[in-house]
Amino acid sequence: MRLEKRVALVTGGGRGIGREIALALAREGADAVIWDVNPADAEITAKDIEALGRKALAAQVDVTDLAKAEEGINKILDKFGKIDILVNNAGITRDTLLMRMSEADWDAVIKVNLKGTFNCTKAVTRPMLKNKYGRIINIASIIGIMGNAGQANYAASKAGIIALTKTTAKELGSRNITANAVAPGYIDTEMTQKLPEDVRQKMLALVPLGRMGRPADVANVCAFLASSDADYITGQVIVVDGGMVMA
Ligand code: NDP
Repeated sequence: MRLEKRVALVTGGGRGIGREIALALAREGADAVIWDVNPADAEITAKDIEALGRKALAAQVDVTDLAKAEEGINKILDKFGKIDILVNNAGITRDTLLMRMSEADWDAVIKVNLKGTFNCTKAVTRPMLKNKYGRIINIASIIGIMGNAGQANYAASKAGIIALTKTTAKELGSRNITANAVAPGYIDTEMTQKLPEDVRQKMLALVPLGRMGRPADVANVCAFLASSDADYITGQVIVVDGGMVMA
């Protein structure tokens, strides 16, 4: 129970990796707020958190909307009095080769992945500064480190998240607020289930551990980064990819 009395917000927590992160934080004792564009999914995660004996709050918040994010943070402060942990997990893909990529595909991915991370980080900054405590965890991707054909928008958004993480760490470190990125590899969720089978097999062949990652593999690292075990870690990118990318 490393997160007792902590209050966590997980964006895109209705399903996939975000849902698993919210549950992992709750198992460690944290109360959790789930934001998602799909309110029904967010409610299900919140109910499962309550079943673990924690307090939970589900809300339909689109992270691309700064005003909505700020309003959502105020509601969390009203209910819980503080916010200790932010996990910027909401993310989308619109894959196609650069030459065919529409402006709308580019804008949509940058808007959710990168601007969404900025919006939520900006919205928690004031309450975290006031509290002199904060743990910000941004879900990047190994694609933001290595690039990938067909994912120019996604790769750029995730590389941007890494730079944003390091800047956040430098700006807020003196107030005991850490910011780290987790860069998952190939994780089994709806996002990767929609890839063609031949692409999935090619990706799998690149994983030394010989299996796809599970959402829990990512969630466990987030729980560690949110805990006091990681108090002296900030501005880092933790790769969780079964060995796909080695520095
Ligand atoms: P999923 O598509 O399974 O889940 C993403 C969740 O985010 C969904 O619940 C989705 O809602 C929600 N969401 C999408 N847009 C917004 C928005 N604008 N505001 C709030 N919530 C939103 O993805 P994963 O669980 O696979 O991915 C989670 C994160 O991990 C993403 O940032 C992704 O880039 C990253 N990642 C995933 C990898 C993988 O292999 N799966 C690898 C590396 C990184 P809705 O249900 O309505 O779509």
